[in-house]
Amino acid sequence: MISIKNEQEIELMRISGQITYGALSGLKDFIKPGITSKDIDKYCYDYITSHDAVPSFLGYEGFPATACISINDVVVHGIPDDTVIKDGDIVSVDLGSIYKGYHSDSAYTYIVGKTSKKNRKFVSDTQKALYKGISVIKEGIKLNQVCSAIGRVAKENHYGVFTCLTGHGVGRDLHEDPYIPNLSNHESEGIILKAGMTLAIEPMFSLGTKEVWLLPDEWGIVTQDGSLSAHFEHTVLVTKDGYEILTGE
Ligand code: MG
Ligand code: MG
Repeated sequence: MISIKNEQEIELMRISGQITYGALSGLKDFIKPGITSKDIDKYCYDYITSHDAVPSFLGYEGFPATACISINDVVVHGIPDDTVIKDGDIVSVDLGSIYKGYHSDSAYTYIVGKTSKKNRKFVSDTQKALYKGISVIKEGIKLNQVCSAIGRVAKENHYGVFTCLTGHGVGRDLHEDPYIPNLSNHESEGIILKAGMTLAIEPMFSLGTKEVWLLPDEWGIVTQDGSLSAHFEHTVLVTKDGYEILTGE
């Protein structure tokens, strides 16, 4: 069942979304060569807790940190540690915050220093896919229109799409119905969007394979061929004639 949020719930999600957005946007200046992924995590923890919110991921199914920090071939769920960020790294940070019982969930991929033109285009295309997906959202459309719009960007550019990793509903719980795959699929064809639904849209692409391994820490997910991956995510409210990005400016 897909929950419909009332005005009061939406207002709490707006506040939560602004806190999550604030943490991620602050990282643009904070992430540089020489710091560790644990430093990034501490920045996020301090930001969220100093804004009267609680990190969504900390303790979620036992996850030990505030942010998932996934570097280069790590797709998602990287556990922050003493890994030092280097020039040329592609660092994805995924985080959420809970404000008065309501979650928001967002992710951004940061390019550290210099990288190739190809890598830069790849990261920017993944972000473009997020906004392509969001742009079609309004009451009455099929969820699959969002999935197709995202998947089309990957297809046109021959990027890998991980079928086991999807977007999701979000609200009182971090992960709610429905699943939102990043490519056209049968199940999403039967789901009609309604105003008041709140969805975490999150394209995750690779420059190579769509196959992944689970790391021995049983959290981190890496591309099987070691290819680069990128991840962008927003929490989005469906409205009568469009959408509102809750984790944006
Ligand atoms: Mg997320
Ligand atoms: Mg998510």
